[in-house]
Amino acid sequence: MSLHVHKDIAALSPYVPGKPIEELQRELGLSRIIKLASNENPLGPSPKALAVLADAARTLNRYPDGSAHRLRTALADRWKVSLDQVILGNGSDEIIGMLARAFLSPGDEAVMADNTFVIYKMEVTAAHGVSVIVPLKDGRHDLTAMAKAVTPRTKLLFVCNPNNPTGTMVSAAEVDALMAKVPAHAIVVFDEAYCEYVRSPQFPDSLGYVRRGRHAIVLRTFSKIYGLAGLRIGYGVTTAEISGYLNRVRPPFNANSLAQRAALAALDDEEHVAKSRAMNQTEMAGVEAGLAALGLQPLPSEANFLYFDAGRDGRALFEALLREGVIIRHIEGTTVRVTIGLPEENRQFLQALKTVLGR
Ligand SMILES: *Cc1c(COP(=O)(O)O)cnc(C)c1O
Repeated sequence: MSLHVHKDIAALSPYVPGKPIEELQRELGLSRIIKLASNENPLGPSPKALAVLADAARTLNRYPDGSAHRLRTALADRWKVSLDQVILGNGSDEIIGMLARAFLSPGDEAVMADNTFVIYKMEVTAAHGVSVIVPLKDGRHDLTAMAKAVTPRTKLLFVCNPNNPTGTMVSAAEVDALMAKVPAHAIVVFDEAYCEYVRSPQFPDSLGYVRRGRHAIVLRTFSKIYGLAGLRIGYGVTTAEISGYLNRVRPPFNANSLAQRAALAALDDEEHVAKSRAMNQTEMAGVEAGLAALGLQPLPSEANFLYFDAGRDGRALFEALLREGVIIRHIEGTTVRVTIGLPEENRQFLQALKTVLGR
């Protein structure tokens, strides 16, 4: 008997994560490898989160609190919304999947940018939806064109802000103009995985739309500035109605007990967040200057990574850097993305890049 798999599923490509350090060590026999491929916090997890894990581990024989009451209460207090407006995910990735499953019927449309977070298209396709892809304009979301792409079949519209992989931002004024045009049958998804790094005062107050009852959801994560990517925990803030539907497709124990405890502690660790943000700002300026010295010009970034056109095959560049012990991310064609690391890591990256480009 042969398997019968829906063509939409067969056509998907498995997500290719940034190469793990250990795998590369095995393959190349290198001792010192630096990973600047997945936008992780190079300073490590929040120390406050680490401090609660041993205690949390003592009850690993028990199922997690499926309603994650304490963490959701803390998030609701923080963002001035009610408890039923907060939903957790096994990473905010999972909430993107829940949105697709809950709101897309086969053939329904989801509007997204070209060159944005790859999970959107993957989840939309897996839910038998149609991705309507709108090109970036000058490396940024073209919200005017995205609003025009909305049809009666549009159920989701993704605004990745700052955008991964370009690092670019759309402003409050641009988002306001978008929100004035999007009809109520489309949910606007603000994916703000990097918002804690943003410096621009023009960053939109997307939670304001949720508080005013618009059909919108704001996605945030503990994977980036909080340094808890390995624990898999993220959240969404939305209307009680939307979270009610998401809860119908949410796996019951999707936020594990270690993650719930660690996230609660990390949320209060303002020191770690401030330190991470400050280091990122200083180091990003250094990497930008280093790239400029090599004739490379990254897009202006509000996140913890830089995106640039290498002016040569990006895959070959990625592989040459791997052999130098530096893992970056090849995006497409001649473009690559590099995460801002520790000062020493950034120096090594620039040195390796110089070596490789000089050949
Ligand atoms: C990293 C990232 C996420 C968060 O992923 P988690 O599943 O929470 O680890 C979400 N959106 C974007 C754009 C990201 O880059």
